[in-house]
Amino acid sequence: MKQRILIIGSGFAGMWSAVSAARLAHLQGNQSLEIAVLAPQPELRVRPRFYEENVTSLTADLQPLFTELNIRFIAGHAERIDAAENGVWYKTAEAESTFITYDRLVVASGSRLHHFGIKGIAEHGFDIDQLETAQRLEEHLSSLSSRPESEARNTVVVCGGGFTGIELATELPTRLKALFGAETKTKVVVVERGSVIGGRYSEALRDIIRDASEELGVEWRLNAGVEVVDASGVTLQDGTRIEASTVVWTAGVQASSLGENLTADRDALGRFIVAENLQIPGYSNIFATGDMAHAKTDDAGNTALMTCQHAIQLGKFAGHNAAASLLDVPALPYRQVNYVTCLDLGAWGAVYTEGWDQQVKLVREEAKKLKIAITNELIYPPKAERDVAFAAADPLAKFV
Ligand SMILES: Cc1cc2nc3c(=O)[nH]c(=O)nc-3n(C[C@H](O)[C@H](O)[C@H](O)COP(=O)(O)OP(=O)(O)OC[C@H]3O[C@@H](n4cnc5c(N)ncnc54)[C@H](O)[C@@H]3O)c2cc1C
Repeated sequence: MKQRILIIGSGFAGMWSAVSAARLAHLQGNQSLEIAVLAPQPELRVRPRFYEENVTSLTADLQPLFTELNIRFIAGHAERIDAAENGVWYKTAEAESTFITYDRLVVASGSRLHHFGIKGIAEHGFDIDQLETAQRLEEHLSSLSSRPESEARNTVVVCGGGFTGIELATELPTRLKALFGAETKTKVVVVERGSVIGGRYSEALRDIIRDASEELGVEWRLNAGVEVVDASGVTLQDGTRIEASTVVWTAGVQASSLGENLTADRDALGRFIVAENLQIPGYSNIFATGDMAHAKTDDAGNTALMTCQHAIQLGKFAGHNAAASLLDVPALPYRQVNYVTCLDLGAWGAVYTEGWDQQVKLVREEAKKLKIAITNELIYPPKAERDVAFAAADPLAKFV
């Protein structure tokens, strides 16, 4: 009987785990492994693009790739890992509870946005974290153009000034003008707890974010926390009121809660603190990857971030190592020394940085071209051709 590598999730990490495991089995000339991906649908949802419009088009069908590489796809939602029985309970698309066993498990169930109990956000707020929620925001924005004009209608409040908040906020002036007409006075306000725009980033990057915001008319409310969101706007903790028909929450991503019954250490973001080979300590046949893994990227003290840049590489290493442990091949310690950022700044352009100290290398149009190449090509699944996919799945091949 074949030994099964079960991968939970078909995001960046899950998809690359599957391709990488298939690659190693192929290189070893071994046909004794079944590689199975369990996820709600056989598609990659391109979350880094969810601040854009036409969000329903931002998916990639994985079935052709899986068919080409003989990867089994199981439609379902994992509910519980039973490590003692080496199996996973999941709900099928028909809501039937089903049990599947594994020889190796790769947990790649990603992350979700948390609202941290902010009053009114669940009822009245929007987000761009998942395809469905980003679609809801897009539909809401489109519906506003049929409402009578008012300051609230023309105002969007973006809560959280991290990368997601910045990309959305700087994209919105163009989107709102397209919806309401070029002459309409629109307003985009970023509400941020920190005291500085882009306070988490390098000074050079911060300056650019500030300049782009100024040029695009994006306002920042710094040292500000959200107290309550309601149907007509947001009240900040200092009592300031902003009338807005649209309030978008972007701060506070947490790893999926799958595997919370495992006795393993997690970091503050809910990620498993994994060993170098991406195994969960204490569980020799379970690996965590992507947004589920807190992993060292180098020997200089850096750890993987919850980014697709890291999820892709973490996926390649996790799949490789899960297969390696069944094929008697040495594991590859996860390493990802290069770190870059490419931040979209709407009509201003974009900014590209290199290194953990975020040295600015490209700005405006040049960076925008690179951003489009990254988000429209580089992070998409490989062609459904075996040699192309396997070459790209090599954990040691150059990525960024
Ligand atoms: C708006 C936004 C903008 C972003 N911008 C950037 C950016 O510019 N650059 C960057 O590098 N990163 C960016 N990111 C982060 C990036 O998208 C994530 O780090 C990346 O998606 C993580 O990949 P993953 O495979 O670990 O998880 P995900 O992509 O979240 O995939 C998780 C997969 O698991 C499945 N799943 C979840 N739970 C279960 C379950 N219980 N059972 C079965 N399947 C399950 C899901 O359906 C999905 O297939 C952004 C994210 C968002 C939301």
